[in-house]
Order: sequence, then C-alpha cells, then structure tokens
Amino acid sequence: VATTQPRAQTDGFHLVIDALKLNGIETIYGLPGIPITDLTRMLQAEGMRMISFRHEQHAGNAAAAAGFLTAKPGICLTVSAPGFLNGLTALANATVNCFPMILISGSSEREIVDLAQGDYEEMDQLNVAKPFCKAAFRILHAQDIGVGIARAIRTALSGRPGGVYLDLPAKLFPQTMDAEAGRNSLIKVVDPAPKQLPAPESVQRALDLIKGAKRPLILLGKGAAYARADAEIRAFVEKSGIPYLPMSMAKGLLPDTHVQSAGAARSYVLAEADVVVLVGARLNWLLSHGKGKTWGAEKGAKQFVQIDISPTEMDSNVPIAAPLVGDIGSCVSALLAGMGKDFPKPPSGWTGGIAERRDKNLTKMAGTLAADPSPMNFHSALSAIRDKFKERPDMILVNEGANTLDFGRSIIDMYEPRKRLDCGTWGIMGIGMGFAVAAAVETGKPVIAVEGDSAFGFSGMEVETICRYNLPVCIVVFNNNGVYKGTDRNLGGGADPAPTVFVKGAKYELMMEAFGGKGVVANTRQELAKALDEAVASGRPTLINAIIDETAGTESGRITSLNPAKASKT
Ligand code: ADP
Repeated sequence: VATTQPRAQTDGFHLVIDALKLNGIETIYGLPGIPITDLTRMLQAEGMRMISFRHEQHAGNAAAAAGFLTAKPGICLTVSAPGFLNGLTALANATVNCFPMILISGSSEREIVDLAQGDYEEMDQLNVAKPFCKAAFRILHAQDIGVGIARAIRTALSGRPGGVYLDLPAKLFPQTMDAEAGRNSLIKVVDPAPKQLPAPESVQRALDLIKGAKRPLILLGKGAAYARADAEIRAFVEKSGIPYLPMSMAKGLLPDTHVQSAGAARSYVLAEADVVVLVGARLNWLLSHGKGKTWGAEKGAKQFVQIDISPTEMDSNVPIAAPLVGDIGSCVSALLAGMGKDFPKPPSGWTGGIAERRDKNLTKMAGTLAADPSPMNFHSALSAIRDKFKERPDMILVNEGANTLDFGRSIIDMYEPRKRLDCGTWGIMGIGMGFAVAAAVETGKPVIAVEGDSAFGFSGMEVETICRYNLPVCIVVFNNNGVYKGTDRNLGGGADPAPTVFVKGAKYELMMEAFGGKGVVANTRQELAKALDEAVASGRPTLINAIIDETAGTESGRITSLNPAKASKT
C-alpha cells in the first residue's frame, strides 16, 4: 500500500521573503506592528537584515537613500493607515528624486474597507498611494506574490527610477500553498533597468551643437550620479575640455578640486554659457527653470543638449535643441565614440575667464574660512568638516538645513561619487537620520550628518535607532537656537517665543548619551575638529552639539526670495 507523505507547505509570509531574497534584496527598513510584526521576525530568521525605526517616515527615507546608493529598490515596510501614511511622505520624496524604492504596507480587510464598515486602521491605501508614486499594486493571493514583487521591482528600477507602493492585506500572510508550486511562482527579474541606447541621429545632433559652441558648459545632476557611468562621464568631461558644474548630489562624480570644475564660478557660467549639456539634471526650480536672470536672459537664449532617460522631460521648461533620450552610460559613451580624435576644445577665452573667476572666488573663500570667530559661524564650523572630508574622502556626508545646507554645499568638497546625500529636489528637511542610517548600513563607511538644529528635529528620535544598531554615524548639530537663527522676537510682544526660536542652549548631545552613544559639545573649530576625529576613529554613534552664533544665518538660506513678500508695510 503506497503511503503518501503530506506535501510541504509554504505561506504568504515566506513567499514575500523568498521573492525579495531571490531578487537580491537583503535589507528591510521599517517599523513592526499589525499586520506585519511576524513578517519582520520571520525575515530576520531567514537571514535578512531588518532595521527597525521609531517613525515610518525615517524608515522610508532610509529605503530611498538605500535605493540611490545601491541601485536596487530600497524597501520600507509599514503597518496600515497611519504607518502607511507616514511612509508615504518618503515614497513621494523618493519618486520626486528619482530614487528606486518600494513601500510595502500591510492593510486591513478589503471586504470591510470597501464597504466602509469601519475596520481597525481602515483605509483604501492603494488609491491613496497612487498619485505619490510610479505605480501601486495589491496582492490578494499567495500565488501572485512572485508576480507582484517582480512588478514592483521592475517598475521602481526601469526607465526613470522612482517609488512603488505594494499593498499586502493582512489575510495574504497566513494563506498557504504547496511549497514547490510556491517556489515556481516566484520571479527573478532579469535585467530590471535595461540599457536604452540613444538614436544615432540624436547623438550627431548633440555633437554638432556642442562642436559649434563658443562657451559650452556641462551640468551634472544626481541622475548622473545614480547612473553609475562614472568613468564615461569623466572621460567625456576631460576629452571635451568643457567646464562642468555639479548639482549638489552630483558633487564628487569628478573631484570638486578638478581643474575643469566651474563650481566656484557658478553664476558666471550659468549666465554666460551658450550651449549647456544637461546630464541627468532637470531644469526645475533648482536651476531657475532654465531661464531668467540666472541664465543671462538679456544675453539671448541658450541652447540645451539634454541627456535623460525620460523622454517627456524634454522641453518641460525651455526648448531642448538636442534631446538625447537614453540611459546616461549609453548616451555619454555614444558621444565619446562620436567625438573622434580631434574634437575641438572650447575657446581658451572661455575656459581662461572661468579659471580667473574661480581662482578669485576660491581665494576669497579661503580667507573667509581661515577666520576663527567665537562663537563659531557657519563657515568656521563647516571648514572643520571640510578638512575631515579632505582626509577621509570615502566618508558619506548627509546634509540638511537652510544655511547649514547652503553653505555646506559650497564649502565641503566631495572627491568620490555618491558620497553626498541631501534635501534633494524638494529642498525638504527631515531626511537626515533616515539617510544617515541607510548610508551606514549599506556602505559600512563613516557617515557625517551635518544638520541644522531645526532640520535635526524632524528625525532626532532616530538617534536611538543609530545607537541600537551601533552605526558609525556622527551627527553634527549646527545649534544657533532656532530656525534660520535664534534671535527672532514675538512680534505680538507676548510671552511665547517667536515661531522660529527654540530653547536656548539646548543640550542635544544628551540625546545621544541617553541611548549610550557619545555626546560632545564643540564651542570652537578646534573642538569640533577633535570631536570629529574621535568620532570617525571610534566608529561609535556620536552627536556633536556645535554651538553657532545665534545671529548667524539668513532667512531660508539662499532661497529667501521664495518667501512670499508681505504686501503692506505695517
Ligand atoms: P538634480 O536635482 O541633481 O539636478 P534631478 O533629480 O533634477 O537632478 O534630475 C535627475 C534626472 O536624471 C531625472 O530627470 C531622471 O530621469 C534622470 N535619470 C536618472 N537615472 C538616469 C539614468 N540611468 N540615465 C538617464 N537619466 C537618468
């Protein structure tokens, strides 16, 4: 008599884990709770890394930064309704920044949600998520988990990268199915971000335009950093001899000290250039939409070559004379190949004029940085950080704030690609600790998070997360007692502080001490430099409370003009 063994079974929990692992995903950023608590335990049991946060927004920001740093979708895992909404902010930010990320949220029972019968954490999450990401998917059956995860991964990575929402109702997880059938239902995504070659005539059009330019300029954006075409981009810049400007997260693609960097002559080159080659940079508000005074409007229209994987980016703000649609590696390689041996160098009047202005500005900046005021100002504190990066160019810099960001961007030189993470396309705050955690987890390198005191407040509780996982993160809080500065007064004369002012003399370093990390106060540039040295050498979580002159800082940093001006003079 033949005895039949019961066949092995698997379930929704394990199929989710197996599908992620099959696609090379090793780390999940999230926050446990109903209905995904057991999933977080099981994925740890199955050898994945689970980094648990204190608030979903920071887990989401970590996933987004992981996506940028690894070119694999960063995964954020949240509970339903409020947890999902907290994560959604980060998903939207990832999408706006073109970072690949998947927000996976547990959700309540469809039958109850769809009849609005009032379930625990009831919300139609799938439809809420749609406007904030590239695509949103829901998986109802265990046998569809493989397809659902494959679609999420391919959508996040292909074309213009971005955020994807994946809805997993609570009932999915305990569903069982035959283990072998389950294994067979999983999909390993092949070539999730395929190369996209530009058409030869587009390449020729671009080369002709560049060749005819008298004052050409290359503008590198964070898409260029994401594309990992570092060698091709460097060869293109150097072979063409064209001066280049990096956007903030493209800094370090070529070292900021490169002779062709026009970073210290930014306003001059933007106003004067006649042909601009955009490489993975959008002509959005960060580039004054490609027009107006910044771009020397009075000097006549510019012509643009734009390299981008997204065809609809072309002409979004100004006409693009030579669109080059494709992945940056392929497009830049095609340009290089078409340049031949004797591609003309830009006129020396142009490059010489830039060098002159750059050297003048650098000398002036060196003078400002040499000053050692007491208390510190933004420049003197940032110069200590600048020196540390010169010594350790492999470290990762996270930078957010208003003045702390604006000055940090120009003062701290970067030397290697993808070492700078900041406020990005929205110019937002709140990314600090999430980005810092991911940078440390994904790279193992020391991370220096240079934070305005206001910016730090958005994610400060994640100091506990940093201590819990013992990450090599050193947070430097630029403490000037308030948003922008600490000297504003209550215009109504009441006892409440002004809306932009914090507790004076706040002891941020104690927040780190509370969880077992090291807290330090730095009153001088020397103390800051010493504390940084020690933090990096120890690899321990550290928070340096850097005391900055409370009168230093301007309203909204360099974007003061975006504040609506009041109409009346009263
Ligand atoms: P920045 O803020 O640094 O100026 P943006 O985020 O505005 O940069 O622009 C990045 C651009 O890069 C986006 O338009 C995006 O479509 C594009 N991009 C991202 N990855 C690639 C890639 N691999 N190849 C081509 N373009 C890319």
